[in-house]
Amino acid sequence: MKLFKGGVHPPQQKNTTEMKTVAMGVPSVVVIPMVQHLGAPCQPKVKRGDTVKVGQLIGDSEAYVSAPVHSSVSGTVTRVDNVVLSGNQPVMCVEIKPDGLQEVFEEIKPPAVDSRESFLSAIRASGLTGLGGAGFPAHVKLNPPKGTKVDTLIINGAECEPYITSDYRECIENTDGIVEGILHVLKWTGIEKAMIGIEDNKPEAIKALSQAVSDIPSITVHSLPARYPQGAEKTLIYALTGREVSSGKLPADVGCIVMNVTTASFVASYLKTGMPLIKKRVTIDGSAVKNPQNVEVLIGTPLREVFEFCGGFKSNPEKVVMGGPMMGVSQFSLDLPVLKHTNALLALDETQSRIPEGSACIRCARCVRACPMGLLPFELDRLVDAKKYEEAQKIHIMDCIECGCCVYACPAKRLMVQSIRIGKDYIRRNTKK
Ligand code: SF4
Ligand code: SF4
Repeated sequence: MKLFKGGVHPPQQKNTTEMKTVAMGVPSVVVIPMVQHLGAPCQPKVKRGDTVKVGQLIGDSEAYVSAPVHSSVSGTVTRVDNVVLSGNQPVMCVEIKPDGLQEVFEEIKPPAVDSRESFLSAIRASGLTGLGGAGFPAHVKLNPPKGTKVDTLIINGAECEPYITSDYRECIENTDGIVEGILHVLKWTGIEKAMIGIEDNKPEAIKALSQAVSDIPSITVHSLPARYPQGAEKTLIYALTGREVSSGKLPADVGCIVMNVTTASFVASYLKTGMPLIKKRVTIDGSAVKNPQNVEVLIGTPLREVFEFCGGFKSNPEKVVMGGPMMGVSQFSLDLPVLKHTNALLALDETQSRIPEGSACIRCARCVRACPMGLLPFELDRLVDAKKYEEAQKIHIMDCIECGCCVYACPAKRLMVQSIRIGKDYIRRNTKK
């Protein structure tokens, strides 16, 4: 194994490790956004007053880089309109009032798969996106550009962010499903082998998967030192294969495709049942939550109802974060919905959510040593502050994976990720024009 450069060791706080997943059931309403992925938004396929069933297509797009969305409940469409979500942009959403019957859509059946093309079409139809947090459409990822030769499927079970245990529970509760999904991907894409990477703080997951693949030579399980961000694509590829994905390149350029453990097991489940992506295991934790646990949630469920299912709050939730504390995104309202790639919801009290006051940079270079991408975070921060975006681009601001290691390591408590995000956003918007 190779050790990636940089990284930090935040307290793990994986309080829900031993907690078996519990299914939440049907909420009072679901709000399903037409874009829950990287790529083109879907157009709604239903209108107000329509009745829908579980697994029914409610949004799709002609664009290749996109993923269809399906109803997670049976019920009546009550609203099709723009809703401002946590990215602060209005997103077209379909609101459905469940009837509580959870009637399954009649057309749900296992897809016919007998070739690479039909496999990729099935994956697209399932609405699958990367479930580890990035939300990239799976059928696009599994179909690298012509001319690239992929020989290794990297299965990400690192789950390096504090608090989150949803993938760990997948490894324990659905070990065979993960292996089955990996075998499907290898078979239909022609990739030769799969390497499963799991941090060494999850020995039970390593043991379960190692046993499950003991007589499958094309799949190997690898224990990796627990160090954040071990689960980032580039660091994981380097740790497992020694291959370096250079600036502006993709994993496929070094012969790899990275897929999260839960994404892999969903492939098996979809090919078996034909039920699209309508639910997600989510770790609910944080100092303000009464009963932290892993909950299976229907997509579109309001955050408020998920927290209520976990006994509500034991103290005032000053901050609610979707995702982990390092890379998660703060939510401005508990009415916002759970999305396909939501892997954790954290409600933090006043002590945990306080933002320390920053001071001037003392040029200690701790942020540079912590950066897994080999960037100069203090300099990117300075250039964005000075609106020198072109210079920031020259020193690879777009390679920042927003892992937060620089901020975590900084003794002056400078909020570099925020300014880097502003810089990246500015560059993206001005490059499109
Ligand atoms: S500059 Fe970006 S990639 Fe580097 S440590 Fe900071 S957030 Fe992570
Ligand atoms: S860690 Fe903080 S204080 Fe040190 S060089 Fe980086 S930004 Fe400056």
